[in-house]
Amino acid sequence: ERMVEIRQQNCNPMTMKVTYYKKPVFIHQGHMQWLWDVDGRRYLDLFAGVATVSVGHCHPKVTEATQRQLKRLCHTTNIYVHPPLHEYVEKLASYFPDPLKVIYLTNSGSEANDLAMLMARLHTGNFDIITFRGSYHGGTQQTMGLTSNSPYKYPVATTSGCTHAMSPDVFRGPWGGSHCRDSPVQTIRECSCAQGHCTANDLYIGQLRETFATSVPSRIAGLFAEPIQGMGGAVQYPRDYLKEAYQLVRERGGLCIADEVQTGFGRTGSHFWGFQGHDVIPDMVTMAKGIGNGFPMGAVVTTPAIAASFGKAVHFNTFGGSPLACAVSSSVLDTIQEDGTQQNSLKVGTYLMKQLADLRDQYEIIGDVRGKGLQIGVEMVKDKASRDPLPPEAMSEIFEHIKDMGVLIGKGGVYGQTFRIQPPMCITEEDVDFFLAVFNKAVQSYTD
Ligand code: PMP
Repeated sequence: ERMVEIRQQNCNPMTMKVTYYKKPVFIHQGHMQWLWDVDGRRYLDLFAGVATVSVGHCHPKVTEATQRQLKRLCHTTNIYVHPPLHEYVEKLASYFPDPLKVIYLTNSGSEANDLAMLMARLHTGNFDIITFRGSYHGGTQQTMGLTSNSPYKYPVATTSGCTHAMSPDVFRGPWGGSHCRDSPVQTIRECSCAQGHCTANDLYIGQLRETFATSVPSRIAGLFAEPIQGMGGAVQYPRDYLKEAYQLVRERGGLCIADEVQTGFGRTGSHFWGFQGHDVIPDMVTMAKGIGNGFPMGAVVTTPAIAASFGKAVHFNTFGGSPLACAVSSSVLDTIQEDGTQQNSLKVGTYLMKQLADLRDQYEIIGDVRGKGLQIGVEMVKDKASRDPLPPEAMSEIFEHIKDMGVLIGKGGVYGQTFRIQPPMCITEEDVDFFLAVFNKAVQSYTD
């Protein structure tokens, strides 16, 4: 009865807002890349609960490890230590170069970024933090200041000391959208490389230097950057852009923080961490989502010198690093290795990107296809010449049609104009073929 009521209200009982879809999708079961609703309809899940289910829904290995730990011990707080904690931090640390070897465990990405923000300020003695336009770094009061992506901003200032520097988005321009058509770098739209981004490099790096010279304080605590912007719509940086940003930040005494909440754990295919694709080594790495395959978990990885800035203060977190969370996350790491998850992400992601690029050449409303591995964005436009974002109603129509044909994808971008594909990384080329047929049909019916 309660369900019927919720269905009629057409809202999420937790947020009391109308759900992502016109009618709520009542999911009650999952297996690997598949989800089933309460009426028994099966969906190919290409969004993984916002890029979170990394190895597959209810993956048998992770489920088994969870059940084993659940029967033994769930919770202690960090007053005590326990074997799953030791085992896990050792395993996770092995994925980082020296001196990134100190690990703090949290329960979410926002908590991890909040903690990294505190550490950056403590360590440098500076206050100001830089992020890029279009970024998303969390929904707590502090991390909301880091977040620039406008749909997630509230009409009051929640934190001070955060500057949003130019967007790295070469498709929409350095101010991330509304000003792009008047932007002096409009000509970069004519770029000609495979990803369509190369000719932007010099211009963008010049603009970045100028932004730092004119709009960034001379002493800063740190820079937070996603190696590929997730909620921003799989926005990639021009080549060497992040490397240059790290240098500009370090010249101002700041620390560089890679937010790997979406890009970590092999999602980008070619590397385990997104930052490795930029030839940089961060001072801190934050992560969540894919770390636990859906179980609440997050982490900050940093150096002993930065960790020492806590001084005598004890960082306490009741649930952070619980035996259960550690056992689950440990089995996720093992599964990524055993199943070749990262390799699959590269293989299937490359296959998907190629076919999507063909569709982009075919349809006037597919403006850009970008991403790496299984972190993919398809930016929809009114037409290729104006690059004006496809309006929300049109996006919804296509989105809804795709769902009705049995595929779940995501949306992102400053105007909600980008479809996002970030599935459980166990999907196959056969799944991709199914999705492409569905996507093609949805775009075609809209344009007809
Ligand atoms: N950073 C990034 C890049 C994210 O995408 C998100 C969540 N979408 C967060 C941080 C915040 O993570 P959480 O929702 O787990 O607090």
